Amino acid sequence: MAKRDYYEVLGVDKSASAAEIKKAYRKLAIKYHPDKNPGNKEAEEKFKEAAEAYAVLSDEQKRQQYDQFGFNGPNGFGGDGGFGGFGGGFSMDDIFSAFGDIFGGHGGFGGGFGGGFGRGGGRQQHRGADLRLKVKLTLQEISTGVTKKFKVRKYVTCDCCHGSGAEAGSGTETCSTCHGSGYVVRSKQSIFGMMQTQSPCPTCGGEGTVIKNKCKKCNGEGVVLGEEVVEVNIPAGVQDGMVVNVAGKGNAGKHNGVNGDIQVFITEEQNDVFVRDGNDLIYNLLLDFPTAALGGEVLVPTVDGHQAKVTIQPGTQPGTVMRLRGKGLPAVSGYGYGTGDILINVSIYVPKTLNKDERKAIEALRESENFQGDKQTKKSIFDRFKNYF
Ligand SMILES: [Zn+2]
Ligand SMILES: [Zn+2]
Repeated sequence: MAKRDYYEVLGVDKSASAAEIKKAYRKLAIKYHPDKNPGNKEAEEKFKEAAEAYAVLSDEQKRQQYDQFGFNGPNGFGGDGGFGGFGGGFSMDDIFSAFGDIFGGHGGFGGGFGGGFGRGGGRQQHRGADLRLKVKLTLQEISTGVTKKFKVRKYVTCDCCHGSGAEAGSGTETCSTCHGSGYVVRSKQSIFGMMQTQSPCPTCGGEGTVIKNKCKKCNGEGVVLGEEVVEVNIPAGVQDGMVVNVAGKGNAGKHNGVNGDIQVFITEEQNDVFVRDGNDLIYNLLLDFPTAALGGEVLVPTVDGHQAKVTIQPGTQPGTVMRLRGKGLPAVSGYGYGTGDILINVSIYVPKTLNKDERKAIEALRESENFQGDKQTKKSIFDRFKNYF
């Protein structure tokens, strides 16, 4: 594949200043950042292409060389491999370690790429892993909100050493590998020149200190497997697929680090009475024919287990929708406004069997003018046409 001109890639003039080049690259890097385009191969290629162009054009010497010789420079610009073996062995980590500053450094871009690396270096505090739970809620629980208790198996702080990981009376000493800094620096040759990378110290795991005598119960980790009953408050109005986060209730962090969270995934139990539509609840009312014709009152169930009295107007038609305002589900904060309604969807019940008297009464009505169904509809259509012409 033909390589695109570096200036073209960044969309800048040949005379662009260093600041303009940096600005142009930053714009592209943010647009095609893998965090923003997960799984998008094209974006990834664009991201790499922009990084490559920036690597050359941001270096005065390389830029001069590129201006003079193009890709076919004397120092191996050319060839299919691209810029000095750039094309092949180019990894995302290289881009980030080389241009970390362009994203504002330290996790400045959506928490960084890959995570857990602490690009700024320095001593690390362990964070316990998050836990994921699932909970199935009834519509009634959703309508009021509910507190659920979970017995959770997770890492908890070791009660023997109180999380320090050290045997009683034994302290910690400065790590001899990193001399207390928590990280180690390695130099390696890369396409950007000599590059220094920082990574957490393998001896102390980034803490800067090591334990002299490890606690026997937790083997120096400061955490042990245990059980805890966790109460989770689930707000009213949640929907299938929502996640409630309980901060700090996940696994304990090693050596009195930061606790992880618990994420509770909501699923909704199917309800026999209502169909949920956002915050509204749809109720299918099978209305008896006499009440539909004569009018009257019916009782409609509500989500709290009670019933609401609903007035039926004489001559109510199937397909009529009535609204019980405010009897639906509350909106969970941030999703819609106010409380929903119960929508009563009317259909008319036609008896499936008739006894002798019922049959007689209905037969008497068959020929009656007001009982003409389809014929009446046709009449009204005809009337409408008449008025129209
Ligand atoms: Zn311990
Ligand atoms: Zn160390």
